[in-house]
This record gives sequence, structure tokens and C-alpha cells, in this order.
Amino acid sequence: MQHFKKHLAELAVQNMLRSLREIESAQGPHVQIGGKDLLLLCSNNYLGLANHPALIDAACSATRDFGVGSGASRLVSGSMSLHHRLEEEIAEFKGTEAALLFNTGYAANNGIIQGLLGPDDRVFSDALNHASIIDGCRLSGAAIEIYPHNDMAALEQMLNKASKLRRGRWLIVTDGVFSMDGDMAPLNRLVGLKERFDAWLMVDDAHGGGVLGARGRGTAEHCGCLGKIDLQMGTFGKAFGGFGAYLAASRPVIDLLINCSRAFIFSTSLPPGVVAANRAALQLVDSEEGGLRRTRLENNRQLFAEHLQLAGLDLCGSTTQIVPVLTKDPEPTMRAAATLLERGICLSGIRPPTVPPGACRLRATLMADHNSTEVIAAAEEIIALLAEQET
Ligand code: PMP
Repeated sequence: MQHFKKHLAELAVQNMLRSLREIESAQGPHVQIGGKDLLLLCSNNYLGLANHPALIDAACSATRDFGVGSGASRLVSGSMSLHHRLEEEIAEFKGTEAALLFNTGYAANNGIIQGLLGPDDRVFSDALNHASIIDGCRLSGAAIEIYPHNDMAALEQMLNKASKLRRGRWLIVTDGVFSMDGDMAPLNRLVGLKERFDAWLMVDDAHGGGVLGARGRGTAEHCGCLGKIDLQMGTFGKAFGGFGAYLAASRPVIDLLINCSRAFIFSTSLPPGVVAANRAALQLVDSEEGGLRRTRLENNRQLFAEHLQLAGLDLCGSTTQIVPVLTKDPEPTMRAAATLLERGICLSGIRPPTVPPGACRLRATLMADHNSTEVIAAAEEIIALLAEQET
């Protein structure tokens, strides 16, 4: 106990102690915290689908018909019709032969990379990839090469060097939209490299799915290379407003994972209500309403980012609904986040190990359901507060 307490005290001294904030309401553009109404600027409910009546109805009716729990893992008795229908719909949505559900994005990244690669293989991973990709790479036992963020020349050099002693399978893996910087991977250039070097390309599109591309297919649709990504991983917990994750890929890849992916094999499958809500979300994303929600989100993003940029703030290269404002050190970052909370704005202060030392930031995420007045007011509040803190 003493050891744990000492560790926690050290974290507190360094402004690195994390704790949980209790949210008392549903995830809308505003939330209740401590009985107070706050503008929510740190939810991944980008399109506002988490409270959409179509998802709620789908979840309630599937729960009534099929129960709360799925009862077992997919390979035992938990592979219900709902899971199969959703997988067919994902494959159609993404234009692949097949798809496979995972319980979370974290489990998917662990299970996909571990299931496809082993100690004879090699994985090339962007330096800013999500923690679950990093853990999946480690779990696979493959040789790991980390290339500097979005640096295609450095990746090419690594691939060239490794070619000299080539053996095993090669995988290049990247986030589609980077979760802490809000920038995108150069997918066309990655496709060029994976074709030249005979590697697989895996894209984790947790933050691009539903949001990017005219039809919400994600970063690859935005970049015009949807059909060229071998392994398309996505999640339902963000823009889709539900929960869970998937891989869309070729039939043999999916069949291999059903046989080899430990995160898939050894876990109870998603509950019927969740799966039904995800199906409704997929339909909505594909509908005219989905398009309108994407447009509203993009308008909010532009308003917010332009205001901050005009004030000279560094947005870490963001081009999406994830808008970080660089604040560098933990103390001013956490002080700013606490003051914003007092002033009615809830967003996250991000510190190491989530970002490198010196790269702390206030990370804001926009939603389609925010209105333009509150988006501008929030940007102005952030600008004023950071100016106050500097003086
Ligand atoms: N990948 C990325 C890029 C993410 O941001 C996240 C969630 N923060 C995940 C994977 C994990 O997804 P889930 O929350 O469904 O576990």
C-alpha cells in the first residue's frame, strides 16, 4: 500500500495524477457535472448518434427480443443472427468481402495484429499510433519498426533497409485520423509503399469512420483509396454512437482471425442491444441525415479552428473535428482545463504518456449538435484564458 500511495503522491506533484469525472447526464452537446450545465467539448459522439431515437429504439427492441447478454463467445454459442447481419452490412459499407466484430477498438487492434503476425513477421507502425496498436504489435511477437509520424521518406528508407534480409509477412499500420493531433495519415502514399514492398496496410479509422468522406466511409474514402486498404479497422463507439469495433477485410483474413485472434476467440460476444444499435447507426451514417450531420460537424470544426488559428494558437496540424491547442507543459494545461470547467466548458487536458513531454495540449472535439454561437464562444473563451495565463 505504501508503495502505491507514494507512486500516486509522485504523480500528483508532477501534475500527472489522473482521476475520474462524473457525468450525470447523457452525452449531448451539453452535459451535467456537479449539477451544472456545461458545454461538452471532449466527446467522441461526433455525429450526435449516441442519443438518437433510431439507435435507442433498435437497442430496446433487440433487448426485448433477444435478451441483454449474448451468453457466450462467438465460437461457442454467442454468434447470433444480429452479429452476422451487422458483419455483412459492414462489409458492404466498406466494400470488402467480409468483416468481423470485436468487442472494443482496443480488443480489435490487439486481436487483429496478434492474430495475423508472429515472430517471423515485421510491422511498421507510425510513432503516433493509438496505444492499442502499440500493444497489439507487442503481443504479436513480430519485429517492430516505428517510423516518425507521417514521415513517408523515413518509412521508405526503413522498408528498403529491411528488404535486404526479407522474411515473413510485413504489415504497415497507421491511424486514419490521429487521436491526439487530429491530422490524417497520407493514405495514398502508404498504399504506394505497401504495393511496392508487398506489405499489408492496416488503417485504424476509429476517428474517421462515419465522419470523413462524402458517404462517411472514413479517411480512405476522403483520400480516394477505399478499395486499396487491406485491413480496415473501425469502431462503433465514436461517430456511430454505439459500442464495439470491427475489421473489414478479405474472406481469408477474416477466417484466419476467427481461428487465431485471441481477443476474438476468448471473449463473450457483443450484447444484442448494442449490435442492433450499431446496425441502426450504420444505416443512419449512410442516409441523407448522415450527410447533413457530417456537414454540420464540418461547419463547426471550421468555425472553431479558424477562430483559434487567427489568434495565433498552434493546433498541431489538425484538419478534422479533433482540435488540439498546444499548451506544452502539464501545469498550465491542467490549470486551463480546470478554469474552463469553472467557466462552463468541459474539455480534456492531455499530458504524457498520452503525448510526448512538452507536447501537452487542450484537446477539443466538436459535435454536429453544437450550435455555431456556442462553438465561437468556446473558442473565444479558450483564446482569452490562454492569453490571461501567459501574462
Ligand atoms: N483506436 C483509436 C485511434 C482510438 O482513439 C481508440 C479509442 N480512444 C481506440 C482505437 C479504441 O477503441 P475503443 O474505445 O472502442 O476501445
